[in-house]
Amino acid sequence: MKPRLAIVIPCYNEEEVLPETVRRLTILLETMEADGRIAPKSRMILVDDGSADATWSLIEQYSKSVAMVMGVRLAGNSGHQNALMAGLNVAKNTRFDAIVSVDADLQDDINAIPEMVDRFSEGCDIVYGVRKSRATDTAFKRNTALFFYTLMQWLGVKSVYNHADYRLMSLRAVTELCQYRERNLFLRGIVPLLGYRTAMVYYDRNARFAGESKYPLRKMLEFAVNGITSFSVKPVRMVLGMGFLFLFIALCILVYVVHSLLEGTNVPGWASLILSVWFVGGCILIGLGIVGEYVGKIYIEVKDRPRYNIEKTTDTNEN
Ligand code: UDP
Ligand code: MG
Repeated sequence: MKPRLAIVIPCYNEEEVLPETVRRLTILLETMEADGRIAPKSRMILVDDGSADATWSLIEQYSKSVAMVMGVRLAGNSGHQNALMAGLNVAKNTRFDAIVSVDADLQDDINAIPEMVDRFSEGCDIVYGVRKSRATDTAFKRNTALFFYTLMQWLGVKSVYNHADYRLMSLRAVTELCQYRERNLFLRGIVPLLGYRTAMVYYDRNARFAGESKYPLRKMLEFAVNGITSFSVKPVRMVLGMGFLFLFIALCILVYVVHSLLEGTNVPGWASLILSVWFVGGCILIGLGIVGEYVGKIYIEVKDRPRYNIEKTTDTNEN
């Protein structure tokens, strides 16, 4: 059966790009429907994230004039991840079979969507859009991104390299995603936790065709820190490790002090001072690390994430 597709697009002050975005997506949906890839009544869901410009009035106009457009307006600016989640939720409640998320500026090539739908029809629940290269990004953005992915991997956070929030999810994957009730959303870290059969589709990332990035450096850093602190307690373990390192240094100094006492080369007062600095420092860090371990546990409990996700059972009795 052909899937009913929803394309969810978070929009924040995007009046400059919206007309072109809606135009291109309408053509895409029409072509895909004509090709027999998707069912009629597929939609794009434009989520206005509390924009201050004409974004919402444009969305309202389009939902009257273009049958494929559905509009959702958030009461205030809640951030990209929350706006996306709002759109996914609406798509879930409207029971679309497959749901694609993409940014309003269409930096991610929408021609990858038909391929995503093909993977979905072959039985994949999650299809990641992965950038082939970052040629259009600045060297700074490229390098910081590379550093970030490497760091995340080292910290043990599962994430897909060069994948942002451009992906297709099945209805059941989105339903499961909605079980993750945490406030600090970092979707590209949560989605890999869902499991299911996944696939990747590669595409070229373009430059923004109009308007400017809504992700200045400050927001990017916040997002990165959020990604790390929402998934990893390793930084706390590092504090504990540092405590032990300090104690070890104290021990080395002790050996040196004993040695200089025996040699008679010691300076009065120096030994007790330097030893206490490293020893007390080490003890404080270990104490902090231990408290941190408990705080880490609390944080994992508070998130209240699902423990598992059942994909199938073999019981076919319908009673
Ligand atoms: N966005 C949003 N709320 C915000 C910031 C951004 O909904 O508070 C949307 C924005 O309209 C766009 C997407 O998130 O559709 C990605 O933003 P942008 O293209 O500016 O980020 P970049 O591609 O520069 O990382
Ligand atoms: Mg962009």
